[in-house]
Amino acid sequence: MAKPVVAIVGRPNVGKSTIFNRIVGERVSIVEDRPGVTRDRIYNTGEWLNYEFNIIDTGGIDIGDEPFLAQIRHQAEIAIDEADVIIFMTNGREGVTAADEEVAKILYRTKKPVVLAVNKIDNPDMREAMYDFYSLGFGNPFPISGSHGIGLGDMLDDVVQHFAGISQTDYDEEIIKFSLIGRPNVGKSSLVNAMLGEERVIVSDIAGTTRDAVDTTFKHNGQEYVIIDTAGMRKKGKVYETTEKYSVLRALKAIDRSDVVLVVINGEEGIIEQDKKIAGYAHEAGKAVIIVVNKWDVVEKDEKTMKLFEQNIREHFLFLSYAPVVFLSAKTKKRIHTLVPEIIKVSENHSQRVQTNILNEVIMDAVAMNPTPSDKGKRLKIFYAAQVAVKPPAFAVFVNEPELMHFSYERFLENRIREAFGFEGTPIKIFARARK
Ligand code: GDP
Ligand code: GDP
Repeated sequence: MAKPVVAIVGRPNVGKSTIFNRIVGERVSIVEDRPGVTRDRIYNTGEWLNYEFNIIDTGGIDIGDEPFLAQIRHQAEIAIDEADVIIFMTNGREGVTAADEEVAKILYRTKKPVVLAVNKIDNPDMREAMYDFYSLGFGNPFPISGSHGIGLGDMLDDVVQHFAGISQTDYDEEIIKFSLIGRPNVGKSSLVNAMLGEERVIVSDIAGTTRDAVDTTFKHNGQEYVIIDTAGMRKKGKVYETTEKYSVLRALKAIDRSDVVLVVINGEEGIIEQDKKIAGYAHEAGKAVIIVVNKWDVVEKDEKTMKLFEQNIREHFLFLSYAPVVFLSAKTKKRIHTLVPEIIKVSENHSQRVQTNILNEVIMDAVAMNPTPSDKGKRLKIFYAAQVAVKPPAFAVFVNEPELMHFSYERFLENRIREAFGFEGTPIKIFARARK
């Protein structure tokens, strides 16, 4: 189920990022070898009551050298385009300003729900200040204090109550959902066109499903696929669409909705820092990943070139050691036909469930081969293991004391599990749990 998206808009310094951080809270990744990127401060996951949603801080999307008012206008437009519910944030200490009215004017254009929040109401005496804000025309303002954490519950109650009315794009479980991410001009939309141009691919409607106009559905050998956010790959020409932050935002949204992520690299230019950052998002999200090296037609090569390029990728993307690498050309269509089989393979591995008895044989063999670590005279004891999740596969290892599980030992177990069961293309997670 795609999570609803909430965006915070408002002029600078009203407290958007303070509130964003409060809502996002501490979210510690269980993936150990973090590639050094945390999700950008502009986009993350929040939770309230039984709802999970994604939240955008539009204040983090700066649009080049645009003048102040143009910036916040674009941010409000982004909120309208990208969010299901909008939190319009103002500052109770300063009253309604011209810039607030500017934001309001943009937000009048949307039918999406807008929740008006008046921040910096740090104590009850200040509540008077919020009456001013009825003039903005968004109904009852919610008095909140980001720094003191007051009033957020009431505001979020209102936000999540609007989720009921959202029309969600939900695809069947059996449909394989994938996205192509990568920096501009690596050839993402050319790749989509090349894949859809393959003769045995039939672009079709699936009866009974509602779909976003932004996705493309096709069928290949009886299997249905959705390319997530195809529209996002085709440039439309709005000012903000070429900014890096905005493309990161689109990529993160697409990753969230995908089972498989194709990280596209330009073979002609090689790997740059931005590629690593983008690949890191896919890894952190726990998706199946394929690294696609495009424009291989223009690379001058001999018999060693591919091998060297792959080595280079492995060095730069240590955290993606599980991802297969495909070299191809959207232009000449060379090896385009290998993509769909790769997608099927990694997607199957991503949802693979292994048999508990075989898993335990593998773990016990591993322990026999390489004794468990010990600390201060105490040795880790492994009792048994169980797979607790798919997409990505996650394994609980039940032990005497979880603190004794060393990272390197966890890595060793991961390697043994991979050798025994495959799992190419998918991250897997292992955690030590105390046996009750
Ligand atoms: P943004 O530019 O809208 O993202 O605003 P920030 O979250 O960066 O906050 C701007 C300033 O307002 C910072 O100095 C915050 O510490 C402060 N601030 C945020 N929320 C509150 C609040 O509820 N009360 C008070 N007094 N200050 C706040
Ligand atoms: P996107 O921004 O990632 O969607 O990239 P595009 O698909 O728009 O491609 C950017 C440019 O690279 C265009 O001029 C394409 O014609 C070119 N291009 C895409 N794929 C290939 C390829 O495999 N080989 C070559 N030589 N050029 C390509």
